[in-house]
Amino acid sequence: MAENKRDYYEVLGVNRNVSDDELKKAYRKLAKKYHPDANPYNKAEAEAKFKEVTEAYEVLSDKQKRQMYDQFGFNGPSGFGGTNGNAGGSYYSYTNGGFGGFDFSDLGGFGDIFSSFFGGGKTNRNPNAPKKGSNLQTNIEITFEEAYAGVQKEINITRNEECNTCHGKGSKPGTSPEICGICHGTGQVTQTISTMLGQMQTSRTCSACGGRGKIIKEPCPDCRGRGKIKKNIKITVKIPEGIDEGQTVVLQGQGEPGTNGGTQGDLYIIVHVKRHNLYTRKGDHVLCDIPITFTQATLGAEIEVPLADGKKEKYKIPEGTQTGTKFTIRGKGFKNVNGSWRGDFIFTVVVQTPKRLTQEQRNLLVELAKTMNEQPPVKRRGLFG
Ligand SMILES: [Zn+2]
Ligand SMILES: [Zn+2]
Repeated sequence: MAENKRDYYEVLGVNRNVSDDELKKAYRKLAKKYHPDANPYNKAEAEAKFKEVTEAYEVLSDKQKRQMYDQFGFNGPSGFGGTNGNAGGSYYSYTNGGFGGFDFSDLGGFGDIFSSFFGGGKTNRNPNAPKKGSNLQTNIEITFEEAYAGVQKEINITRNEECNTCHGKGSKPGTSPEICGICHGTGQVTQTISTMLGQMQTSRTCSACGGRGKIIKEPCPDCRGRGKIKKNIKITVKIPEGIDEGQTVVLQGQGEPGTNGGTQGDLYIIVHVKRHNLYTRKGDHVLCDIPITFTQATLGAEIEVPLADGKKEKYKIPEGTQTGTKFTIRGKGFKNVNGSWRGDFIFTVVVQTPKRLTQEQRNLLVELAKTMNEQPPVKRRGLFG
């Protein structure tokens, strides 16, 4: 584990004799850069980087830990967070408020990240801390052509909106929520209980205020103290060209409202693409079967190929084309949703055997047959390798 880790100074891009101030500056810059909310398309990677810089900062900003690190590296006598193979665990403590004298409010609300990422520490959370709203999820169905060209759609969702009457406070206008007298606003009650092993302290959510730390004596009549009201909302969503079945469009800040001034959650829209009766999709390619007559197949022909964008493209089928032969029109498939390249349009010709012939056609074929009255030879595959 330890040997894969990058040097903490290197991670933060600073010299070994960096000052506290410079260290803080370097960390703040990187934390902003790698904040997952700032990297919606590569969240996982950003999260890993964010953890890496945070761990480096945690160690280097602590005088004692830094000294140990300088002297012993990662394998210091007591080890640092992460070297025990449980890097995630070392982040829990941060939810309990700051470390190394670093004030996360400096990052402009980024302190919030710890609650959304590292999840833990719920029982000790400050109920008055800003909390990001929940994410919402919905589905949308679009046609094959809409997926091909991209489309703007209006969707209806139900979500909570801040109550206009109390501005989210939950208390009747003109009144204010009171600090809970039982937990003194912390939302937690600490209890000392006697056990066989001696006295133990436990803390649990305050039942008087439900962990909110506040009590609303006179609730807002419109939201009945919730501070929010469920509303049906129309949202316009731009679905990008080339999107595929099951892919998700994320609308940041369109989820549930945050609490205590926290940011709004995100809205995840899962896209479903209806089946098309002509086309199928494989990767970024459009696949299609195109029927041709047996005379076209035999003599060769110029046919019209219906592309997925509604246009037709002329294509020359060579003489002697067998049924099942695939032809490719380059660059006429889907645009890659993440890139700028396009897939191809690949069609398979299906030779139709005529069923209802006129007498004249039949006679012509009989004449033709006389000139070809042999069955085609059975191909011997594999005989010569
Ligand atoms: Zn209200
Ligand atoms: Zn309470």
